[in-house]
Amino acid sequence: MTDKSNKNTTAATLEVEDLHKSFGDLEVLKGVSMTAREGDVVSIVGSSGSGKSTFLRCINLLELPTAGTIRLSGEDVKFKGSGKDRVPSDKKQVARLRSQLGMVFQSFNLWQHRTVLQNVMEGQVQVLGVPKAEARERAEGILERVGLYDKREQYPAFLSGGQQQRAAIARAVAMEPKVMLFDEPTSALDPELVGEVLKVIRGLAEEGRTMILVTHEMRFARDVSSEVVYLHEGRVEERGAPETIFTNPSSERFASFIQTTH
Ligand code: ADP
Ligand code: MG
Repeated sequence: MTDKSNKNTTAATLEVEDLHKSFGDLEVLKGVSMTAREGDVVSIVGSSGSGKSTFLRCINLLELPTAGTIRLSGEDVKFKGSGKDRVPSDKKQVARLRSQLGMVFQSFNLWQHRTVLQNVMEGQVQVLGVPKAEARERAEGILERVGLYDKREQYPAFLSGGQQQRAAIARAVAMEPKVMLFDEPTSALDPELVGEVLKVIRGLAEEGRTMILVTHEMRFARDVSSEVVYLHEGRVEERGAPETIFTNPSSERFASFIQTTH
């Protein structure tokens, strides 16, 4: 058996099947599926309001999908009930699976009353039970890699937006998630700060981390992604390898979307 066929028989890192989400009468996700194998970078693109954030938030159960399957390393999230009454049936499972997903938000969400170093250490100590000295050493190593070692004793308010977002990424990385979820990580930044954050994300992609990335940075998505998924009104309108769909889109809508975002 070749390596490739071997890989294809192993469980994907993250599989989402036919995900639906409604808010009251508003159906925001109308059956979205996605698979990420180890090392994949899947970018989700689409107009504002197309359901990108809702999709990411459903993956880590910040929103509860009204129907569909979420499977992490072959393990299905267990639900009971249906529709708006559908809830996870195993709280311990949710906590465990969630700890394997690292989320990075548009708005950084650092703990403001903790230093950068404490932000990166805290989860390791509290959630993973890593001894403090070890957590500090690992945190320092990660901060070094994102170019923030010199800022480790600063509080977030004293950092630029780009530095805060790099700290937030370092904090997520410190938890050694199986999958990192990014929701428009550069959208809140001044244009001159976007590059330093994309550079860090590119580095993570090159290390082979599995990532789902919601972004408006089309050039970047094209460069780093194994697959690009274009959402339109809660459905996948186009998907594929970037070199294929950007040069030869099958959807008119996607073609004009990339025209307007270039
Ligand atoms: P995107 O991230 O692609 O801009 P969102 O997932 O944020 O899109 O939103 C998709 C749609 O769902 C929008 O119409 C938005 O108003 C709606 N929506 C998102 N969150 C909620 C919520 N908590 N309650 C009601 N409607 C919501
Ligand atoms: Mg959004």
